[in-house]
Amino acid sequence: MFSRILIANRGEIALRIIRAARALEIETVCVYSEADRGAPWLQLADKTVCIGKGPSADSYLRIDRIISAAEMTDAEAIHPGYGFLAENAHFAEVCRDCHIEFIGPSPEAMAKLGDKISCKRLAREAGTPVFPGTDGEIEELEEAIEMADIIGYPVIVKASAGGGGKGMRVAHNVASLRTAVTAAQQEAVASFGNGAVYLEKFLENARHVEVQVLGDKHGNAVHLYNRDCTSQRRHQKLIEEGPAPGIDPSIRDTVCESAAALIRKAEYSGAATVEFLMNDKQEFFMLEVNTRVQVEHPVSEMITGVDIVKESIRVAAGEELSWKQQDIRLLGHAIECRINAEDPDNNFMPQPGLIETWQLPGGPGVRVESHVRAGYRIPPNYDSMIGKLIVVGRDREEAIVRMRCALSEMKVGPIATTIPLHQRLMNHHAFVSAAFDIHWVERLLEN
Ligand code: ADP
Repeated sequence: MFSRILIANRGEIALRIIRAARALEIETVCVYSEADRGAPWLQLADKTVCIGKGPSADSYLRIDRIISAAEMTDAEAIHPGYGFLAENAHFAEVCRDCHIEFIGPSPEAMAKLGDKISCKRLAREAGTPVFPGTDGEIEELEEAIEMADIIGYPVIVKASAGGGGKGMRVAHNVASLRTAVTAAQQEAVASFGNGAVYLEKFLENARHVEVQVLGDKHGNAVHLYNRDCTSQRRHQKLIEEGPAPGIDPSIRDTVCESAAALIRKAEYSGAATVEFLMNDKQEFFMLEVNTRVQVEHPVSEMITGVDIVKESIRVAAGEELSWKQQDIRLLGHAIECRINAEDPDNNFMPQPGLIETWQLPGGPGVRVESHVRAGYRIPPNYDSMIGKLIVVGRDREEAIVRMRCALSEMKVGPIATTIPLHQRLMNHHAFVSAAFDIHWVERLLEN
């Protein structure tokens, strides 16, 4: 096992990794930016190194400075957390070249699953359900038109190197498909330096259901069941829960096993998430694979008892997964609400500034993951998430009631947060009955 690791991240995920490392009796080094000087989580690290100014491009994205910090402090491995450099295969490669273990997949596995065309090919071979569409890159426009005729409109043209919703175009007929292909190609070249695009069926009114998976370097892979992340705003998840409600257990298990098969095929080590859209017939279609730990990983931890971050450190050190699939049982139902410093009444305007009141909920089945406290000043440079509230109950009904109670106990001020929005959603019949799709929150907010 490692004796010291460096955490190339900040905020709640840096704190989560510090806790997992401490549980494994590993020392931690935290890099930080000038905007995070004196931040609460840094006090729990064994060593800290300032790597630059507040903007991420001058600090948390500076590969050279992060590697120097690791070398200076004799850290044997780097945990990238999520965001920043977590899905940067070049960073994983530099770590390897410098003989520092990257806590995550190999650069090869990351690249194979990060490129959407190669990921989809691999998924087909692994038996993971994918959208009908072109087999690979669109070479000729005619090819796209033929495929759209076969699968039917609407279709979506997507960049193979895509991310952050860029390089995607929906087409409802041949005319719009012609412009969609060209536009998506141009945007893909401009944004990613790679113009490869492909076409697939566009699914309307879907639910977002994803599968948490874990792999090791010995060819083992397991799934931790699924999560529903249908409650989103502008592709940003607001609420996540697991297991995804209202899905036939045999369908659920087949899809979850196919996700594990995919990462086994990719020779993947560490935590990953295979994302799907699901229609109202419980048919699943893979969207993409996230090759990192995700914000909503605690949902899966609460329903299985598996410590995902700890496992990802263990497998990076070369150990085998400490869980076999048959030992991973569903222990209840968990829900997570992302608490963002944003004003839901003012177009979700970010609310940097001083937190004066920070009162947390508690009791059975309540977990808070947060890096802030009273007296903390939220810097304007980063993501607005200031905490995650997670509850677990024996079933969905109990979890919803627990979440309502926990939300009403939680007091944050004077800055505005998303707590009132979560209270509204937790009481809404669409959420309570799980009769929702990925646009339901936006529709509600429009009214
Ligand atoms: P990115 O990597 O840019 O986030 P994704 O492949 O995850 O791209 O897609 C982003 C979002 O676009 C999805 O969450 C979904 O809402 C929508 N989307 C992508 N592909 C489809 C599809 N085939 N049908 C319907 N919606 C889609």
